[in-house]
Amino acid sequence: MSASLKNKSVIVTGGSKGIGKGIARVFASHGAKVLVVARTAAEGEATVAELVAAGGTVAFCPADVATRAGVEHMATTAVALHGGIDVLCANAGAFPALKFADMTEDAWDGIFATNVKSMFLSIQACLPHLKKSAAPRIVITSSITGPITGFPGWSHYGATKAAQLGFLRTAAIEFARDNITINAILPGNILTEGLVGMGPDYIAATAACVPLGKLGTVDDIGHAAAFLASAEAGYITGQTITVDGGQILPESPAALTA
Ligand code: NAP
Repeated sequence: MSASLKNKSVIVTGGSKGIGKGIARVFASHGAKVLVVARTAAEGEATVAELVAAGGTVAFCPADVATRAGVEHMATTAVALHGGIDVLCANAGAFPALKFADMTEDAWDGIFATNVKSMFLSIQACLPHLKKSAAPRIVITSSITGPITGFPGWSHYGATKAAQLGFLRTAAIEFARDNITINAILPGNILTEGLVGMGPDYIAATAACVPLGKLGTVDDIGHAAAFLASAEAGYITGQTITVDGGQILPESPAALTA
C-alpha cells in the first residue's frame, strides 16, 4: 500500500465497471477518496455500494464525460465531496467493432467523442483543481490496440487510442509547469464484463497468444494507475506503461513454443 495515496481525491471516469472499477477498487484500498463517474446510475451505484462495503471511501457521480456539462458536474462534485482533485484517471471509453468497409462518419465521430474528446474535456474541467494539489496526477487509459497492434474492426478505435498518446506527449510538457504529471497505461486484453461477452473462444485464443498464458485482471491495471499516481512515480511524465502479460512481444506464434 502506498501511503502517499491516503486521503487523495481521485476521479475515475468509467469507474462503474470493467477496468475503471479495478482502478477505483485499488485506489480505495490505498485509502484514497474515490469518485466513480459513469452515465448508468444503477451500475455506478452498485459498484460504489460494493467498494464502500469493502471499507472504501467511494461516491458515484452520474455524468456523460463526452459533454462539457457532464465534466463540469464531475469536477464540482469531486470538490464538494472530497475537498479538491488530486488524481484524474481518464479511463472512460468504448470499443464497438466495425470493419472499415462499413465505417460511417457517425461511427467515426462517435468513437472519437467517447474516447478522445471525453479525455480532453475531463482534463480541462479538472485542471484548475489539480493545480491546487500538492502532487497532481493524470493517468490515461489507452490500449495496445492502435499504438502498437491492430485487430480487424478496430481501425477507428485504434486511431482514438493512438490519438491519446499524441496528446499525452505535448500535454506532459505543458502541464509540467504546474507540477502535474500525465502518463498512460496500455492494457492488453483484460478480463472485463465486455470481454467475457466476446465468448470463450475469443478469450481462449487470446490467452494462447500471451506469454504469461492468461488475460489480465482489472486490478492489474488499477495497480499500474496507483503506481503512476504515487509519490514514488513523481518524476515520471509523458510515458506509457504496457500491461499485457507480454502479448506484444512474440515475433510470431512460434516464439511461444520455440
Ligand atoms: P467497459 O467495461 O465497457 O466500461 C466502460 C466504462 O466507461 C463504463 O463505466 C461506462 O459507463 C463508461 N463510459 C463510457 N462512455 C462514457 C461516457 N460518455 N461518459 C461517462 N462514462 C462513460 O470498458 P473497459 O473494457 O473497462 O474499458 C475501459 C477503458 O480501457 C477504455 O478506455 C478502453 O479503451 C480501455 N481498454 C480496455 C481493454 C480491455 O481489454 N477491456 C484493453 C485495452 C484498453 P456508462 O456506459 O454507464 O457510461
